[in-house]
Formats: sequence, structure tokens, C-alpha cells
Amino acid sequence: MKGEFVLKMSAKNIATEYQYKDIYSSDFLKQFNKYLPEGADIGSMKLSIADPAIKVKGIVGKMNIQLQPAKLEEAGILENHGNSNRIIEYNSNDNERRIRFTISHELGHLPLGHSNSSEIKHRNTVNLTGYTYEERHQESQANSFAAILLMPRKLIKILIEYWVERFNHDKWTLDASELDKMTSFLAEKLNVSYEAMSIRLETLGINN
Ligand SMILES: [Zn+2]
Repeated sequence: MKGEFVLKMSAKNIATEYQYKDIYSSDFLKQFNKYLPEGADIGSMKLSIADPAIKVKGIVGKMNIQLQPAKLEEAGILENHGNSNRIIEYNSNDNERRIRFTISHELGHLPLGHSNSSEIKHRNTVNLTGYTYEERHQESQANSFAAILLMPRKLIKILIEYWVERFNHDKWTLDASELDKMTSFLAEKLNVSYEAMSIRLETLGINN
């Protein structure tokens, strides 16, 4: 991280309420269609700036996937037995932020087309021993999917604008400690880990 970095954006009038279709691209939302029952829709879900964390369990509910806490070696498992019988198990010993990432990762295997009926996908971030090249690639795609789902670019931009106006007094050039504060703020707001947010900001070119 460099000593100072400049936010390439400026203050706007920030709305306080959004729909998911405002913060995700239509291509991203389209990926879910095949896995949503008739009439279910993610784009119309709402969020407010006061509480903008993506409602992962709400999305899972719309997709008709059962969620089950479990005692697991790995972070999570997707069991896909077809339309009305899909289960995501997650490690009940993990903290909430990690569980949110795990669930997002596992559900991502569906729209990404990784899981045909009756296939089971595991997530194990620590040990990928025994994974084929293809499986490793799919794991990395599911992690990217989870990052986009939990930390959508547009929403991050909106929250940065909000943070700068409100807490950094319209100062758009940040030193390392301000960048650290902003990263913590964004992680807190979106209910993800500091590390995940930091990586996401780097991916988006906001943190360099
Ligand atoms: Zn996976």
C-alpha cells in the first residue's frame, strides 16, 4: 500500500434506499434466473444505506435452498439434488462474516454452472490437496462470485462517497490510516471481513 491514495470520485447526492437491481449489473442478476422459482426475483430486494449488508439468507431463501449449520471439517458444502432439493451446509463454528462468505461461495456454484444435479461441491479454503485443476478453477470462480455478491462495486462506491462526506470531511485524498478506517467502515457496513474488503478494494483498483 502506498502512503497516500486518491479516490477517483466525488461527492454526489446519495440516495438512502436502493433496490438490488440498482447495485448489480443486469448480467450478474441474470445468472440467477435459472435457479429462481416462478415469480421470485432478486433485483427487487431492498437495501438502505443505514443497513446495506447484502441479505444472503434472503437470496438463499428466494432460490429455495435450505441452509443448515453443521459440524464440518470444511467451511461449507453445497448439496444439489435438483430443483426443490438443494442444501447448503456451513460450519457452525465459523464467525458470521465468514459464514456469509461461505454461503455466497456455495450458492455461486449454481449460477456459475458448476453443479449438475446430484453433484456435491465442497469448499475448503485451507487445503485444496486432491483438487483437480478444474476444481481449483471453479473454487476461485466461486470466490470471485461471492466477492461480487457481498461487495458489489456500485454499492462500495456509494458507501465510499457517504464515508468521505460524512467522516472524512470531503477529503478525497487518504493517508494510510484513513484508508484503513475506510476499509474497516466498509467491512462493517457490508458485514464482511476486513481482509475480504481489502482484497475487493484492490481488485476494484480503489486500494492501490
Ligand atoms: Zn466451492
